[in-house]
Amino acid sequence: MKITGTGACPGIVIAPVLRLQQLPAFSLEKRDSQTPRELLAATVNNAVLSLRASLKESIQVLYARGETVKGEVLESHLALLEDPALIEAVQGHVAEGYALESAIQRSIDSFCRQLQRSGSSYIAQRTADLKDLGNRLTCAVLGIEYPSLSLLSQDVILVAQDIPPSVLAGASPAYIRGIATAEGGSTSHTAIIAGSMGVPCVVGCGAALSALQNGEELFLDGVTGALEWGFDAQRRERLVYYQNRQDLKRSLLRSMAERPTRTRDGTPVELSANLSDLSGLEQIRDCRADGVGLYRTEFLFLGRDTCPGEEEQFQEYRQAVQAMEGKPLVFRTLDVGGDKNVPFFNLQREENPFLGYRAVRLYSDFEGIFLAQLRAILRAGAFGPVSVMFPMISSVEEFLRTKKLFDRTKKELRRRDIPFGEEIPVGAMVEVPSAAINADALIRHADFFSIGTNDLTQYTLAVDRMNHSVANLYSYFDPAVLRLIFHTIRIAGEWEKPCSVCGEMAADGLAIPLLLGMGLRKFSVSPWSLLRVRKLVSLCDVQECEALARRVLQLPGTEDILVELNCSLPRGYAEWLR
Ligand code: PEP
Ligand code: MG
Repeated sequence: MKITGTGACPGIVIAPVLRLQQLPAFSLEKRDSQTPRELLAATVNNAVLSLRASLKESIQVLYARGETVKGEVLESHLALLEDPALIEAVQGHVAEGYALESAIQRSIDSFCRQLQRSGSSYIAQRTADLKDLGNRLTCAVLGIEYPSLSLLSQDVILVAQDIPPSVLAGASPAYIRGIATAEGGSTSHTAIIAGSMGVPCVVGCGAALSALQNGEELFLDGVTGALEWGFDAQRRERLVYYQNRQDLKRSLLRSMAERPTRTRDGTPVELSANLSDLSGLEQIRDCRADGVGLYRTEFLFLGRDTCPGEEEQFQEYRQAVQAMEGKPLVFRTLDVGGDKNVPFFNLQREENPFLGYRAVRLYSDFEGIFLAQLRAILRAGAFGPVSVMFPMISSVEEFLRTKKLFDRTKKELRRRDIPFGEEIPVGAMVEVPSAAINADALIRHADFFSIGTNDLTQYTLAVDRMNHSVANLYSYFDPAVLRLIFHTIRIAGEWEKPCSVCGEMAADGLAIPLLLGMGLRKFSVSPWSLLRVRKLVSLCDVQECEALARRVLQLPGTEDILVELNCSLPRGYAEWLR
């Protein structure tokens, strides 16, 4: 069986599964009429005292072991437990006649709702900590042993619906080889802790994960999010071989963090990272990316019931800009619609969502939301070098209309005396064929181009990038796609304006020599691929790449192009392709 979740921490592992049981579900309406209220109140107080003591002890142990990230998570639990409002709420529900576990769950639920209303996705993610604390407290009052991983004695991949952060924090990393959860996002504490433990992690796997049996051997790839189980001995051998190779390569690649990105002949290349939320910033810094080439801002709008306001966006964006410490960051404005549905936009179901009401096409109908985002971006631009680009631009008029809103926002901020970045370049994403074909008209108005090869490929070939049935037809090595990319790079070059590629193609080893040969000097890739891309670039010679591009651009079909690319790999390159 093979499934795919969200890769949240890189690495490949094969190990037996240890399923973590969830706590029993408690009815919130259950009432307890037998036990005197005073006794129940005393039980809560005793449970709180003993839980505090055990948390303090665990925190001390963790700090003594140098496991500060885990220690900090438990400290945040302790702080929640020391908040008198929480315990007062529990005691209040007990006084109303609720059973202990119901009283705790009711209080935790109401605190979670308050956090979620705060609007910040980061704060809202902390509801996981609150729920976790609620479970601990429930166990303490009921005398149930809280799931503990401290007694592990063999390598395991933890599999669960969701793993409470404190359970993970208390675990000894020695035996935890991987983590797979049905729920969870990349900024959940579980993923943060997995990262600090260096444990490969896949989150958001969904219901399919429940088919996995305890003790069954699981293959987990924390980069691609792939999970596989139920394999025979022959398949296992292949997966083990793949794992060993990847482990070795990953450790060798670490040295690339110290190096600038240059080709073999010394040509400098700008290598930036793609960012979806703040949790990616640490890795971006660690691998010394030259900047953020694509900040997919819509991720702050997904998976929630209310629209983030200007202030919340500003705080997020400013944090991102400041974390880059003077390195450039490119904001891509809201790209919702298509496969990214946002409930509070109330978008109608469409027959062809990718060809419909998407991205920049929504801005005039949702002007209030778009202008709030522009204000937040402009204000964040006062804290470091920032650019803005618009997604899915298909005509010059559309670009000019959108840019007008941007200029209007600047005027408004100026009038209100609000500080913002005055000199923010405004670019166009080239991801619709019409924009690429008309690049020479578009470049007169845009400060830069960023080629979105993911969409450019689907629109050029009329192949839905989400549809498995036509996946074999989707290839950015199709000659028509390559010609559009080359044309766009060439036009930007003639106008001496920057042009980058920020789609997945930029991290594809087979594409890198070709893109360099077409004149591309700016790549933006996922942080996890960045060191590998730096390595691959270092093996390329620009003159050889240019000759390769000339040959490839003459070829009539994808098959021929793939053969040519595979036969022309630079020396020592094949090793690092994947
Ligand atoms: C692209 O289309 O290549 C791109 C980078 O944007 P997204 O994948 O977010 O659509
Ligand atoms: Mg796109």
